[in-house]
Amino acid sequence: MGEWTYDAIVIGAGHNGLTLAAYLGRAGLKTLVLERRHEEGGGVNTEEPVLPGFRHNMHAQYMEFFDGMPIIQDFNLYELGLRTYMPEAQAGITFSDGRPPIIIHRPDLLDRTHQNISRYSKSDADMYVELKKKAMALEPLLMANLYTPPPVGGMPDQGPLLEALFGDLGITSDFLLKSPKVIIDELFETSELRALMYRACVEWGFPVDTAASGGAFLTFIMWTMGNWKLARGGTHTLAKSMTQACYQQGVDLIESSPVVKIMVDDNRVTGVKCANGDIYRANKLVASNADLKQTLLELVGENNLSPTWVRRAKAFRYGPSHVLGTLALCLHDPPDYKSARYDEEINKCFYTMVGFDGEEDTIMYIRDAYNGRLPKPAAGTWVNTIWDKTQAPPGKHSATGWYFMPSKSALTPSEWEEVRRTYNSAFIKVWRDSAPNMTDSNIIAERIYTPDQMERKNLMREGDFSNGEFSPDQMGSNRPFPEASRYKTEIEGLYLCGPSAYPGGGVHSACGNNAFKVIAEDFDLESPVVASRGY
Ligand SMILES: Cc1cc2nc3c(=O)[nH]c(=O)nc-3n(C[C@H](O)[C@H](O)[C@H](O)COP(=O)(O)OP(=O)(O)OC[C@H]3O[C@@H](n4cnc5c(N)ncnc54)[C@H](O)[C@@H]3O)c2cc1C
Repeated sequence: MGEWTYDAIVIGAGHNGLTLAAYLGRAGLKTLVLERRHEEGGGVNTEEPVLPGFRHNMHAQYMEFFDGMPIIQDFNLYELGLRTYMPEAQAGITFSDGRPPIIIHRPDLLDRTHQNISRYSKSDADMYVELKKKAMALEPLLMANLYTPPPVGGMPDQGPLLEALFGDLGITSDFLLKSPKVIIDELFETSELRALMYRACVEWGFPVDTAASGGAFLTFIMWTMGNWKLARGGTHTLAKSMTQACYQQGVDLIESSPVVKIMVDDNRVTGVKCANGDIYRANKLVASNADLKQTLLELVGENNLSPTWVRRAKAFRYGPSHVLGTLALCLHDPPDYKSARYDEEINKCFYTMVGFDGEEDTIMYIRDAYNGRLPKPAAGTWVNTIWDKTQAPPGKHSATGWYFMPSKSALTPSEWEEVRRTYNSAFIKVWRDSAPNMTDSNIIAERIYTPDQMERKNLMREGDFSNGEFSPDQMGSNRPFPEASRYKTEIEGLYLCGPSAYPGGGVHSACGNNAFKVIAEDFDLESPVVASRGY
């Protein structure tokens, strides 16, 4: 046991904690990061959970923010080892009866996407391409919003922007009140494309049935569609380069050090205590990358909070959005789809949806998971080794996938055990219907990683990777609740920098980046805003 003093202490070395720490270090603050696990990165981790040499991103896989992420530019992460690929065929849906697939290509290959969707419907292809072009034109604004703390008192009215941008497609401000599903059904007629869009919408952002999410669908989801990169060597290389950036700024990082108490004296944060009894005092501030309830109710303690904050923290909800199970497979050969007879690019899609035969199937699957029922097996899958040979032994392949799953508490521990025993094999049968070579002899080994395990391993509550449900009352200036929306808490010197804060989950580093902007104002530090990029 010992006692040390720093200017700033960050609890948790997820990518948001590392981001904040790098900026704090660069601003000249003596900074410490304490991480409960044995490694940095949190959800940004790559492991060999099935067989040695076969790598899998256990959580984050799709990197859509890299071109805008300030930390990548400000700390030259490409100089520190970060490398990426951006496959041409980005997302596809394939079918068990061998119907033509639908494939969404990179934004610079929209003519191929158009050609592809046109197999089913020319008007859907026109609509997709028009929406995508408009959403891409919004990129500077989306990035500026993402990397700016939300305004006090609510987000600006999006109605005029929506009408100015999408008015010629018949999209009016009332679309803001609609759910993504209602909009998808109104704009697109093809069942196969609707299925792809429902799953994409939920996976990369918003519950498809939640009313008043229409603006986010038309702008953010349409922007993110097909805009994904893959980190060479696995997503962990992002965490590794961020860790290097922290070291270069003189930040100390201590692993295997769970914080068990945030010390408060007279409503001011004074430091933290770790599970082994070590005490770290903070001259200026403590910031938490951990989830909201742990930070306020467990680490600070109700006795140090006002009744309103206790009530607000208790009312904060986790899941059912963003609850996934991860499938990890070691393969001899990648899947060869029946639908490839129409378009062989389905075999080289970055992300392939398997087991969804149309819109009814897909919506039922999503609604089952949201309502606490185990859906019939279907998944979004990827085989990173098609682009990155380093992720498996020579000549072999690593395949990974995501199942939508119920929140952890929806099933009992023995029911989760049963899922681990049976779900993968049920899904692999479904996969074989679409890709006949997914036979037992092609599969060297497999494993599933379930939401209850994600909660235990990473403290992603309920298995919710956003550590807080995405619903209008917990988004934007309401995240996690209005009084805490600018990363500050009612305890002087205590800040939030994890995904329970704006803008929520995802590998964008915006929670850490924006927390630093608020801290920079409070402590008169140099702001990281770069005039040329506008944020
Ligand atoms: C299955 C799955 C798939 C995903 N796919 C994608 C994707 O493709 N693209 C994407 O952008 N995002 C994806 N995400 C989401 C993304 O992984 C997370 O939103 C992101 O990693 C959150 O980053 P963070 O730094 O805020 O928090 P975390 O990564 O959760 O890090 C928090 C850190 O704090 C530590 N900690 C917690 N409590 C304490 C304590 N008391 N003391 C010390 N340390 C503590 C934790 O151990 C952890 O390291 C996915 C998530 C999951 C689960």
